[in-house]
Amino acid sequence: MTVVTRFPPSPTGFLHIGSARTALFNWLYARHHNGVFLLRIEDTDKARSTQAAIDAIVDGMKWLGLNWDNNQELYLQSKHIARHTEIALEMLANGNAYKCYCSQQELEEMRSHQKANGLPMRYDGRWRDRDASDAPAGAPFVVRLKAPQTGETVVKDHVRGEVTVQNSQLDDMVLLRSDGSPTYMLSVVVDDHDMGVNHVIRGDDHFTNTFRQIQILKAMNWPVPEYAHIPLIHGSDGQKMSKRHGALGVDEYRKMGYLPDAVRNYLLRLGWSHGDDEVISTQQAIEWFNLEHIVSSPAKFDYVKLDSVNSHYMREMDDTKLSRAVAGMMDDTALSRAAAGMINDTALSRLVQGMPGLKQRAKNLKELADSALFYVLPRPLPLNDGAKKILTADAKAMLRLLRGVIDSVTDFSAYNIETAVKEYAIAQGKKLGDAAQPLRAALSGSNVSPPVFEVASILGKTETLARINDVLSDNV
Ligand code: GLU
Repeated sequence: MTVVTRFPPSPTGFLHIGSARTALFNWLYARHHNGVFLLRIEDTDKARSTQAAIDAIVDGMKWLGLNWDNNQELYLQSKHIARHTEIALEMLANGNAYKCYCSQQELEEMRSHQKANGLPMRYDGRWRDRDASDAPAGAPFVVRLKAPQTGETVVKDHVRGEVTVQNSQLDDMVLLRSDGSPTYMLSVVVDDHDMGVNHVIRGDDHFTNTFRQIQILKAMNWPVPEYAHIPLIHGSDGQKMSKRHGALGVDEYRKMGYLPDAVRNYLLRLGWSHGDDEVISTQQAIEWFNLEHIVSSPAKFDYVKLDSVNSHYMREMDDTKLSRAVAGMMDDTALSRAAAGMINDTALSRLVQGMPGLKQRAKNLKELADSALFYVLPRPLPLNDGAKKILTADAKAMLRLLRGVIDSVTDFSAYNIETAVKEYAIAQGKKLGDAAQPLRAALSGSNVSPPVFEVASILGKTETLARINDVLSDNV
């Protein structure tokens, strides 16, 4: 049997990070089994669905590298409404469903009676066995499933285990509303069946729906898929996830400077484990992923862990690729300040050379971009407060003298520059830091930077001397 999984988001907002995890698990499970992963847009709630949300879902999936196999045309649930209706009518015809003519008022009375008498609130089945001739002429009706009233419905779940509900606890659910539209519960089941889905891996919030969905499947004599309900993600304090806790769209993570590989790795670990492994490549994840190791308690979202995974992927990334990604993150203000053509070949080549030194510290591309900006900005560089503090009269006097020393270095390697500066500082009865700190301030505009002689070497002699001159001529 070919494994077929699916990801069926409702396009009512961005691709939420929790949904992205659900998509990932389905994708991994399908890829592990050489199976099929399907995307279905559940857009039947027209009032809440938007094209912008569909675009955000598609973009988010692509950014995360979660390719789906029904990719000729986007599967929109709304295009299959006629089919869902047909199934409800089929159930009606074969006695597995019936028309219920209860008015809104009648239903409300039923509920208040149940409430007053401490009874469970559910439809009491009053139209279940009534004769068709009782139907009020021309009155609106809904179609309800004639669900079994005895026995039990069992969900065998790969995460929750076996969970049983007495059928007497479940009322006859609505399949078609009085305007003839199919309900969500029916549409999901029919689409899953028609698409050949045999593994339903989804958020735990859908668990209770499963009993009802199984009842529809049984009524239609359709096979029941395998189920795995993934515990939800909580905030780091164990509370329900909120925006503060990271409940954001995938696109926000992109904008914050997280790499897709890192987000994927982090989401995998958020609710699934492989021993103590934290860094798991996609290839390994496909090889190892199973339903048995889905963690059965809610996962806690933790930015510190995400940062650490992201740092790892940044360090591992090819420097040219990383430089391009960093250049893409450099913000518009910096860009406009730097005028046109900031990321030219020289700038990119400096970034590539500087990347090994820069990427050791940053947690995300945004931080990396901020710390790399000095390589790219045209002169004169803006100085931060730390740099200004360093550039005292004494420091400037030192820089004035260092110009000649630096100018005399022929092979402009970090080692040669450092050696020359060190010898000079010592000869002057100073420490290396007395020369290195002013140099750092002049070359990076900051009091923190990668090793300063490496910076000088990457900038080259002309740019290094020009940046020193800028500081000395109060050009900044
Ligand atoms: N459309 C549902 C959602 O976005 C998913 C339904 C399902 O997985 O069965 O939550």
